[in-house]
Amino acid sequence: MFWSKEESMDRKELEKLQLRRLKWTISHAYSNNEIYHRKMEEAGVKPGDVKSLDDIRKLPFLSKAELRDYYPFGLVSVPMDEIVEIHASSGTTGKPVVGTYTQRDLEIWTEVMARCLWADGIRKGDRIQNAYGYGLFTGAHGFERGARAIGAMVIPTSSGNTKRQIQIMKDFETTALACTPSYALYMAEVAEKEGYNPGEDFSLRVGLFGAEAWSEEIRKKIEEKWNIDARDHYGLTEVIGPGVSFECEAKDGLHVNSDHFLMEIIDPETGEQVGEGEKGELVFTSLTKEAFPVIRFRTRDLVYSMEECECGRTFPKHSRIIGRADDMMKVKGVIVFPSQIEEAIVSVRGASENYQIVKYKRGPFTEIKVRVEPTAERFSKGNLDDLKREIEEEIQKIVGLRVEVEIASPGEIPRSEGKAKRIVEG
Ligand SMILES: [Zn+2]
Repeated sequence: MFWSKEESMDRKELEKLQLRRLKWTISHAYSNNEIYHRKMEEAGVKPGDVKSLDDIRKLPFLSKAELRDYYPFGLVSVPMDEIVEIHASSGTTGKPVVGTYTQRDLEIWTEVMARCLWADGIRKGDRIQNAYGYGLFTGAHGFERGARAIGAMVIPTSSGNTKRQIQIMKDFETTALACTPSYALYMAEVAEKEGYNPGEDFSLRVGLFGAEAWSEEIRKKIEEKWNIDARDHYGLTEVIGPGVSFECEAKDGLHVNSDHFLMEIIDPETGEQVGEGEKGELVFTSLTKEAFPVIRFRTRDLVYSMEECECGRTFPKHSRIIGRADDMMKVKGVIVFPSQIEEAIVSVRGASENYQIVKYKRGPFTEIKVRVEPTAERFSKGNLDDLKREIEEEIQKIVGLRVEVEIASPGEIPRSEGKAKRIVEG
């Protein structure tokens, strides 16, 4: 029902559909928005110049910094009274990005989210505990829309009040948990403290995770702890919210809802598209959005491009997010992503998934050290110097850099009910 015909469309047919919609988007933005009009004029390109999908390269990129300049409604391309819903990013690194939606935009959002949840195995009869934070943030609302379209039950707990979440999960027989991966791990920890065995005492079957870059190792941890299938979701306020791309049962890369969003993966230095299997920055162009079209929006999220999938969907895939360009650190000339540090820590026996990267300056240079909590079991055994050394060796193996590790006591590192804060300035 929510495996729509577009998902397994012949590639050529899909590209024809994308081109038709791309032409519409460009002429819509050019005709109805001053900023887009000016940007295209400055780049010397008119809507009629885009005759193939490749011609998208003639169009200028749209950066996060520009979006801040156009706060709040600069890129709105319909009359304001056509807008029926509004969302905003958290704005932790500056002015928030405002997402605006017409009635039609909301229908599209609902449809793409329903596809994601359907691919996760969500059906009528499922009970989804929606522990993303309700509010301006798109997360909770997107999952709620998709769930309703399928006919599943939504339990809108929002984030926080973790003991109550656990109680509800037990009493309401929740089958699917929607939240950030780090919150799912914290919930397991609280459930254990409350005397439960998370893997056995609940009806949970699947986790609908997203809003964070998380590693394959963390996926395994969550799946083991809760005894569930943990799925990744990707989206951002600038593009629509969650629902931009999703994992199928292969759990090997995320399919982009390509009849609504056109993906490019570019070399962040040159702006040129990268080849198959190469690493680059995700760039999206919306194909059907009315209120807030985005044209070549640079997400600053890094992925690998991927081959076709065996599941039958023809929608192109990207790998899970390897890192956000904003989180990238350069230490002693070596590029380091928090996800690499995480991969190293989680693979060491006795290390927990609770860690923090402390970034500090030594003279003009950036240095990092890592604080890791041992598991309670490992902590009670003592002799933590061995654990410290093992983690340091593992980090060196993966990152190619010697990073100092500090062993924290259990419970010392702050837990998160939303997006985990992994990097702190020291
Ligand atoms: Zn697939």
